Amino acid sequence: MSKLIASAAIRGAKTLVAQAEEMLEKAIAEKGKDLPFEFPDTAFYLPMIYAMTAFPVKTLGDMKAALGFAKELLHDEPEDKVWKPYLGEALDSGMATLFAEEIILAIRYIYGLEPCKDPETGYVYNGFISDTIQRNLGIQLVDGTMPGFAAIIGAAPTDDIAVNIVRELQEKNILTFLSGQSNGDSVTKQLLRKGVELGWDSRIVPLGPDTEHTLYALDWAIRASLIFGGKKPADFKGHLKYQKDRVFAFAIVLGPLDDIKWTTGAGAINMGFPAIGDTDVPVIHPTGVCTYEEVDKEFDHTKIVQKAIEMRGLKITVEKPPIPVAYGPAFEGERIRKEDTFIEFGGQRTPAFELVKMREMEEIEDNKIIIVGENARERYEKGGQLPLGILIEVAGRKMQKDFESVFERKIHSNINEAQGVWHMGQRDINWVRIGNNAKKEGFTLEHLGVLNATMTHHRFRSIVDKVQVTLFIDEQDVKKHLEEARVAYRERDQRLGSLTDEAVDTFYSCLLCQSFAPSHVCVITPERLGLCGAYNWLDGKAAYEIDPTGGNQPIAKGECLDTKYGRYTGSDEYLKKATGGAVETLNLYTIMENPMTSCGCFECIIAIIPEANGVMIVHRGHTGMTPIGMKFSTLAGTVGGGAQTPGFMGVGVNFISSKKFLFGDGGIKRIVWMPKSLKERIAEDFKKRAEEEGVAGLLDKIADETICEDSEKLLEHLTNVGHPALAMDPML
Ligand code: SF4
Ligand code: ZN
Repeated sequence: MSKLIASAAIRGAKTLVAQAEEMLEKAIAEKGKDLPFEFPDTAFYLPMIYAMTAFPVKTLGDMKAALGFAKELLHDEPEDKVWKPYLGEALDSGMATLFAEEIILAIRYIYGLEPCKDPETGYVYNGFISDTIQRNLGIQLVDGTMPGFAAIIGAAPTDDIAVNIVRELQEKNILTFLSGQSNGDSVTKQLLRKGVELGWDSRIVPLGPDTEHTLYALDWAIRASLIFGGKKPADFKGHLKYQKDRVFAFAIVLGPLDDIKWTTGAGAINMGFPAIGDTDVPVIHPTGVCTYEEVDKEFDHTKIVQKAIEMRGLKITVEKPPIPVAYGPAFEGERIRKEDTFIEFGGQRTPAFELVKMREMEEIEDNKIIIVGENARERYEKGGQLPLGILIEVAGRKMQKDFESVFERKIHSNINEAQGVWHMGQRDINWVRIGNNAKKEGFTLEHLGVLNATMTHHRFRSIVDKVQVTLFIDEQDVKKHLEEARVAYRERDQRLGSLTDEAVDTFYSCLLCQSFAPSHVCVITPERLGLCGAYNWLDGKAAYEIDPTGGNQPIAKGECLDTKYGRYTGSDEYLKKATGGAVETLNLYTIMENPMTSCGCFECIIAIIPEANGVMIVHRGHTGMTPIGMKFSTLAGTVGGGAQTPGFMGVGVNFISSKKFLFGDGGIKRIVWMPKSLKERIAEDFKKRAEEEGVAGLLDKIADETICEDSEKLLEHLTNVGHPALAMDPML
């Protein structure tokens, strides 16, 4: 590492520490050292400081103590005469910088200055990234749909170059954070000028206008090792190694560098994230201290993304159907408003359906797109509204009838991932919109078939040998086939209803989250889906057929040792092996003894409330208080990391209405509290279950945040409504 860089990093760190100190003195003088502070929706205080030192910053006074750690990390600038590797000093400074930046941003929050607002456009930046968002994205990180993160700092030479760089990252499914500026401009402003949709849905997240705001991205990264990795606070070596090995982040610095950029960069390098610049930066070469190149340059903006990806060692495979618009998960969240719509189908406006059917090999022709309807193409060209039936016929030697529903659920992503095309709903309540822009780019009716054929092949390669897609456009055709489709849906639901844990001899594991939580395994049974909600038993079965050595493995159920608690010899043996002995035994149907482990991406957390003789369930996204005195984020911080935690458990939303839900503990009658929105979301299935259990009005007896957020009022409510949990056997 050259002296030049080390000097800049050390100077920058000193500047920031001094700035933090000044702001802190002022804040303490004005508000007192006991003023409490927490970033919005996190269980990890000031996450960088907490991860590295285990010191929980809760007040302004605590910040002062934490700033003391930063000062200890400061070094003097290297003297000219003495040559030695300066990496250590610069990296220490980098960490001091991150601590100082975290404190600076915290104080800005206290003064209401964060999240920043752009004075010219009124655009509000994201600011601090919440634990909830981290968990929401967790599943995409582990299943590879989001292979990495980029932080872009500064501004591109032109607006078009900014758009091109970001589009390339989007097409590669990389999540992009934006911060900083150069020459008064920034990539955020450049994208805003070009009308590019920003935000989590499009995977382009502007954090703030200054270099210091890059810290929010690093704060986010460091929580991955706390949330998913189960790394303990203060295990700084463990955290840094985890970041380097598992969090695939890199920085692209556009425009000239200054001391603050250098020192923030040193902080990022510390975490194993390399940086690439588009100016003539002095490049760090391996000098004996560095094991790989952490900083590089690339003047050609059409190559900069690729070079950064190679530097970080990311492997990216992208399947793009032959259609004239961009394609990838980054476009899945994009909305198409009514006024931007060229043509729409379904959505209760016209009859529509989508259906996947298994066929014999000779019955269909591979990759054939058939459009049925008089003057269908001309009618499409006119825009407006049309009926639409999508029939996807699939044949393959390894195809099974059970996979129809697995394939069908993917139609949503198949269509939505095309830029400017939008899909909602499923089965006979589907709704498709094609935007004016997509139409202008040349998106035709055929393309709607093409993307389904290509992606069905791609997603289910090795199951699928042939895919044929038929689009029905005439109302009478759609209505006719709709009847057949409804019969198929009904049969399928009946089949699913008959799939019980007892009826099969194989469960499936999901090991995807082991890349983040090495001792976590989801045991997926017909009646219990994975805790992220994304994988059920059929998904596991299909995934195993596709890739027999992949993340979903069959578990021979073996002998049932305990029907009430759901303990099987097969799953115990499997777990011992798959977790390297960390988990010895598992009870599938209880929360009280050897329950399932939790990684970090659970949709809901169940927690026991002993005084109510029952449990509460809170879902990701509910940010309010719960009766056990912890918010979701705090609770989640104590449950994750691949440990078995009796009394607490992460589960998928759909598990709540399963017959096996806490079967050993008394089932759904134990539920005493859930947020209102969760109650609404599961109402239909839950009411059916409650009737089966002979407690028809149960959902209304379950408290929510509009009734109480503490256990005293909760008990009052339960007594008033005569909740069944009160009369059940004691849980403890
Ligand atoms: Fe992770 Fe379990 Fe979901 Fe698999 S099913 S991705 S292991 S949470
Ligand atoms: Zn997980």
